[in-house]
Amino acid sequence: MTELTGMTPAELTDYCREQGLPAFRGRQIFRWIHQGADFDGMTNLPLALREKLRQIAVAQPVEIVDRRESRLDDTVKFLFGLKDGNCVEGVLMHYHHGYTLCISTQVGCRMGCAFCASTLDGCVRNLTSGEMLGEILCANRFLAGRDRVHNVVLMGSGEPLDNYDNVMRFFRLLREEDGVNIGLRNVSLSTCGLVPRMYDLAEEGLPVTLSVSLHAPNDEIRQKTMPIAKVYPMDDVLAACRNYVEKTGRRVIFEYALVGGVNCEEQHAVELASRLRGMQCHVNLIPLNAVEERHLKGVSEQTVTRFLNTLERLHISATRRREMGDDIEGACGQLRRKTMMAQEADGEKA
Ligand code: SAH
Repeated sequence: MTELTGMTPAELTDYCREQGLPAFRGRQIFRWIHQGADFDGMTNLPLALREKLRQIAVAQPVEIVDRRESRLDDTVKFLFGLKDGNCVEGVLMHYHHGYTLCISTQVGCRMGCAFCASTLDGCVRNLTSGEMLGEILCANRFLAGRDRVHNVVLMGSGEPLDNYDNVMRFFRLLREEDGVNIGLRNVSLSTCGLVPRMYDLAEEGLPVTLSVSLHAPNDEIRQKTMPIAKVYPMDDVLAACRNYVEKTGRRVIFEYALVGGVNCEEQHAVELASRLRGMQCHVNLIPLNAVEERHLKGVSEQTVTRFLNTLERLHISATRRREMGDDIEGACGQLRRKTMMAQEADGEKA
C-alpha cells in the first residue's frame, strides 16, 4: 500500500502518471486528501479509479479511535489510530485566536525525560509526514463545518528533531496551495534540545517558532530529569537558541515545568534569568502534570507565582501556561498509556 498523504501535488502527479492515469488527477487527489476525504468521497474521480486506488493506496492513514472532551474547557484529547495498529495522541485546544492542535511526531519517544509518560516504553517508530498531516485532517473532520485547525504545535509524543526529515516534509505539505492552509508562522516545534538539529532547523529559513524544553537553570539540575542534558550542555543549547533567533528573527520559547523540590526555588529563577539575559525569548512555566508512574511532585500555586514574579522582576518575559484539559489525561502520553494498559489487562483476561 502506498501512502499518498505525504505526497506533494507534483509527486501525486508523477504517481498518477506511473499508474497510467491522467496527470491532472494528481492535484485532484491532493485536494481531496487535504480536505480529509477518503477514496470513497473523491466524487469527481471515476468509480473504477477510486476502487483501484483503494486496493493499492492509503489516503487517510489516521483515524480517531477514542476521544475525551474536557468538562472544564473546550479541550479535546484524541487517541489517533495508525494503519499498523499503533496509536498516538493529539490535543485540540480552543484559544481566542482559533483552534490549536498539538500533534505527536513519534510513537513513544527515546529521550527518557523523567517526568514524561511518552517515553516510558521507549520509541516504537517515527511517524511519517502523512501521518502527522493525518492528525490535522482528523481534527478538521471532527470540527467539520464549524471550524478548522489554525495552529499546530509539535508537542505531543515524540522528539520532532529526532524525526527530522519527516518533520521537514510535513512542514512542506502545510505550505502547499490547496492544502490545510496553515502558515508556518502558526507552527511551533518543541525540542528537548538536540543541538546539531537546532542549527539545521535554523538553516531551513522557516518562520517556525522554536520551543525548547529547559526545565532547569543549570546542567546539574537538568541532568537529574533529562538524560539529553548529559549529551548537550545547557550553554550549547542556549548558543543554538541564540543562533536560531539571529537566523530567523523569531524569539525562542523556553518550557519550564516546575517540579517540587527540584527546580522551583527562588534561587533557580534568579539563575535562570541570569543565563537568559539579553536573549530574545519567553519562558513558559508549566506546573508539573503528575504522571502516576513517575514519582515527581508538582508545586503549589504560590510557588508558581513566586517563580514568575522573580523572572519578571529580572526583566525576563514569562507566563504561566494555562493548563487545559487537566481532567482528560492532558499530559503527553498519558491517554495512550492508559489505553495500552487497559488493552493489556483485557488481553490477560481473555
Ligand atoms: N520532545 C519534545 C516535545 C514533546 S513534550 C520536547 O521535549 O520538547 C512537550 C512538552 O511537555 C515538553 O516541554 C515536555 O518536557 C513537557 N512535559 C512532558 N511531560 C510533562 C509533565 N508530566 N508535566 C509537564 N510537562 C511535561
